[in-house]
Amino acid sequence: MEFEAVIGLEIHIQLQTRSKAFSSDSSEYGALPNTQVSPISLGHPGTLPKHNKEAIEKAVKMGLALDCSITEINRYARKNYFYADLPKGYQITQFDTPLCVGGHVPVKTKEGGSKNVRLIRIHMEEDTGKSMHDQDLHDTLVDYNRAGTPLIEVVSEPDIRTGEEAYAFVTEIRRLVRYLDICDGNMEEGSLRCDANISIRPKGSTAFGTKVEVKNMNSISNVKRAIDFEIERQKACLENGESIVQETRGFNGLNGTTFSMRKKESNNDYRYFPEPDLPPVLMTQSEVERIRGEMPELPNTLYQRFTEQYGLSEYDASVLIDDKHSAFFFEAVCQHQRNYKAVANWVTVPVRGYLNDQALGMQDFPISAPTLAEMIALVDEGVISHSIAAQQLFPALLQQPNAGARSLVDSMNLATNNDSSELESLAKEVLALFPDKVEAYRSGKTGLMGLFVGEIMKRSAGKADPKMTNGILQSLLNTPE
Ligand code: ADP
Ligand code: MG
Repeated sequence: MEFEAVIGLEIHIQLQTRSKAFSSDSSEYGALPNTQVSPISLGHPGTLPKHNKEAIEKAVKMGLALDCSITEINRYARKNYFYADLPKGYQITQFDTPLCVGGHVPVKTKEGGSKNVRLIRIHMEEDTGKSMHDQDLHDTLVDYNRAGTPLIEVVSEPDIRTGEEAYAFVTEIRRLVRYLDICDGNMEEGSLRCDANISIRPKGSTAFGTKVEVKNMNSISNVKRAIDFEIERQKACLENGESIVQETRGFNGLNGTTFSMRKKESNNDYRYFPEPDLPPVLMTQSEVERIRGEMPELPNTLYQRFTEQYGLSEYDASVLIDDKHSAFFFEAVCQHQRNYKAVANWVTVPVRGYLNDQALGMQDFPISAPTLAEMIALVDEGVISHSIAAQQLFPALLQQPNAGARSLVDSMNLATNNDSSELESLAKEVLALFPDKVEAYRSGKTGLMGLFVGEIMKRSAGKADPKMTNGILQSLLNTPE
């Protein structure tokens, strides 16, 4: 029997805010354990939560970026359960009025097309503390710094069919949170976490099978690996006449398998009820529009513009929009330089190569947009050759970014030599060195031109104007002695 997988993802995104979701405790990552905990984070009796405006606005931005509709009256709820990392005994979350409803994420399919994975909802909630099982020989330790950090949870419809589509989905979510500056998207550090709900069914069937939820994938490729493994495991179960147990499974990155963690709780067990200590958050239409106005241009519209307005190839455009800072830098250079194709080449190849070598981000690139534009202009105007630009001027600018491209060309003496009398005497010198080659050329071996040009280039340290050099050689060789 042929099976088809049905996959829905739940993505938790830690919002980058100065303080926690419902208190003024710092939410900075990496502090010493239990140093960012007030009685509110610790859930002491008598403390009261307060809304964090910055967190709510960041959540709205994500909803707008994914074409969701934004809920006007946002109520909060308590999700009750007992665990050591949850000191209040409940998590503040949203239940019946999620901030964002609907929306979709475009993903590329295996067939080369694109499809929209619909979203069920995005809601706001708070993170738990962090249990550490490997820090002490006998006990599990708990760090409450993370408790109360603002989160949004993006929940997809079960529209995903393969591990690859899931990979594309999470990649797009990560790119968007980075564009929006709401999260660093770091799955290794857990600021972006993905749970995958997976079931299989006979191909052609419309009913859903029993789903399994897989957790603990700390990279996007592990999300794909976990899904691929789980699909095969479930197929094998059904083929052996067993049934799928609804449960939560963990992923073991070392061997790429999943293992049973616990049988799934149902919503009933959480005894959700309205959070009495927080007033509903009102998100009026005008407030939503104000927030929309603060959003940067997003990758899909940038892609459209880069291909249409700048005439870039689909490949160049998609490489540039991968990272917001590269895309913006490209445009900044284009403000000063109309050879857009050349700008794209410089930004996607040498600039990116330098940043990768140095393990730097685009924000740390030393050369300014006007200076890079100036360098490209010097090549276009024939002042320097492309290879001199790539091999000498660009590295020099990286060292002295404020020196200015033109003045480095002068001080390093990089300009193309187009002094015809100098080039002519150089040409005569070279021809005199190879009398037999000159004769061979004159008797029809015109391919030897390359050799003469090469010799002149060598002697001029690559600076001889190639066109002028060619012309001079032609006339010398075609004039009989
Ligand atoms: P739960 O109540 O168990 O959390 P939800 O209905 O809230 O389940 O859905 C959680 C996630 O599971 C969503 O992303 C949804 O798309 C996905 N999902 C629901 N049913 C299935 C299924 N049969 N197979 C795969 N994924 C599913
Ligand atoms: Mg759920």
